[in-house]
Amino acid sequence: MSYRIGIDLGGTKIEGVILDDQSQPIIRERFPTEQEKGYDHILHQIKKVYDYLLKQIKQASHTVGMGTPGAFSQKTKFLKNSNTVCLNGRLTQQELEKKLGCRLRIENDANCFALAEALQGAGRGYHLVFGVIMGTGCGGGIVHEGKIITGLQHIAGEWGHMSINPQGPLCYCGQKGCVETYISGGGVEKQFAQAVGQKKDFNTILRLFRQGDPTAVNLLDSFFEYFGRALANVINVLDPDVIVLGGGLSHVDELYQRGIGSVKKFVFNDELKTPIIKNRLGDSAGVLGAALLGV
Ligand SMILES: [Zn+2]
Repeated sequence: MSYRIGIDLGGTKIEGVILDDQSQPIIRERFPTEQEKGYDHILHQIKKVYDYLLKQIKQASHTVGMGTPGAFSQKTKFLKNSNTVCLNGRLTQQELEKKLGCRLRIENDANCFALAEALQGAGRGYHLVFGVIMGTGCGGGIVHEGKIITGLQHIAGEWGHMSINPQGPLCYCGQKGCVETYISGGGVEKQFAQAVGQKKDFNTILRLFRQGDPTAVNLLDSFFEYFGRALANVINVLDPDVIVLGGGLSHVDELYQRGIGSVKKFVFNDELKTPIIKNRLGDSAGVLGAALLGV
């Protein structure tokens, strides 16, 4: 039997899974990242997860995939944009492979999400899947016939940093009015804080919106408008067979009515056939997608 090991490197936890030869999860384990303890400790924690999983399958033959926010820079080879910040600008894939003593395939978390949903979740049976993560930030991944499309520069699917308003809020990436500044949890929270001088989390703002609070209504009206504009742009270019929504904001019910209505308004077509649906794997998509990367 050949196993697939997946490791999801997060800011607070490192999760591992083993899939059997039917690609079904048989063992899962998680360890804390404890990033406050520094670089060497995090590498040690990753190795601990891997060693634990390896012991469970008695060192049988296996592939290893890893998912993490951010990516290895093609220019410098170092990890960038990870929320395990002390790895940024320091960790290379080569060092990680040396530490674990195995070959690795590594992808960002949005690509892992898209792959897992395409193969085992809501996108199953569709040829071309666009997976969207709307959480603290806003990411995306493209899977065609069960394979991740990474693109020449490994940025395929990064719709979160399309600028849709050059006069819009400044994004951490240096551009103004990126999709992420409007339709991510972090973006909405920041705009709300600027409008009323008080910090509230996204779910509170959503509750206020549902209660008719004028600031929240104003903000989320444009949230749905920009959701439509941004996804319509994606559909115009890619025209995927399905769009699967993931991340914390995928639970916002209004996205599947009002949000879809807004996409329909902006898409370059006289109808909108594209199913825009909620993910099926929830939080497990990241680690499953990592395992499904294989080597
Ligand atoms: Zn940006």
